[in-house]
Amino acid sequence: MSGDSLDVVRFWERLGLPGIIDVHTHFMPEQVLRKVWAYFDSVGPLTGMEWPIAYRHAEEERLALLRSFGVLRFTSMLYPHRAGMADWLNGWAADFAERVPDCLHTATFFPEEGVERYVREAVDAGARVFKSHLQVGAYDPNDPLLESVWGLLAEAGVPVVMHCGSGPAPGRYTGPEPVGRLLARHPRLRIVVAHMGMPEYADFLALAERYPGVRLDTTMAFTDFSEEFSPFPVGERVRLADLGDRILLGTDFPNIPYPYVHQLRALERLELGDAWLRAVCHGNASALFR
Ligand SMILES: [Zn+2]
Repeated sequence: MSGDSLDVVRFWERLGLPGIIDVHTHFMPEQVLRKVWAYFDSVGPLTGMEWPIAYRHAEEERLALLRSFGVLRFTSMLYPHRAGMADWLNGWAADFAERVPDCLHTATFFPEEGVERYVREAVDAGARVFKSHLQVGAYDPNDPLLESVWGLLAEAGVPVVMHCGSGPAPGRYTGPEPVGRLLARHPRLRIVVAHMGMPEYADFLALAERYPGVRLDTTMAFTDFSEEFSPFPVGERVRLADLGDRILLGTDFPNIPYPYVHQLRALERLELGDAWLRAVCHGNASALFR
């Protein structure tokens, strides 16, 4: 076992957990992943924010790594940047979940003709979680084409991990306002706000306080990397404790510019206690995906 893996295993062993659950990991068709990696390679020169990907390996090796970390369940977050892609991505993800049983069957969507049909098909085929990326997809979650989709997902109780915060770059429909309007119409929706809503942390915590179905994932939040350009306000920490049953471990593996264990250490140093860490790294996701 590599030192990297040992560090992760020691983290959950100390907490007395059987392993951890990571709700925000990326697996996607090879040619799409290559484009994502090319994007992160270009981010450095564009913004001065270098983003060297720590786990740029073949799929088999990435899966072996997650398992050596003791990640019991993970996801295959994928998302379209235009119409005509989601149905194809969903086919790939269904096949992936079939051959990789520890991956929660993941699906996605885009406001387009036929979206209700393929979302229903994915739910019927056993999709456990959806991904919606408002910044890359550049769509309004209140687009009328999605209205029946939200109703269907609220009814089925299937969570949607949504990149709706304005980090690392804002989009036309990112920020708390569009999601707030969506939740006002569909208060039972199980939205998992990716990246703790970075950088609009406080506003998204307020949505979670208001709507019991709303959760947040920790993906990249609290790490040295994110604290540098988008620090979590120290004064808001008490709200993390109060929402301890609604925060889920997410990491963005493999597209992260630091070792996996750093995300776990970043949670540990919030000093919210071992019970909080056990809930965030295992218990809450275990209950949600039971
Ligand atoms: Zn991500």
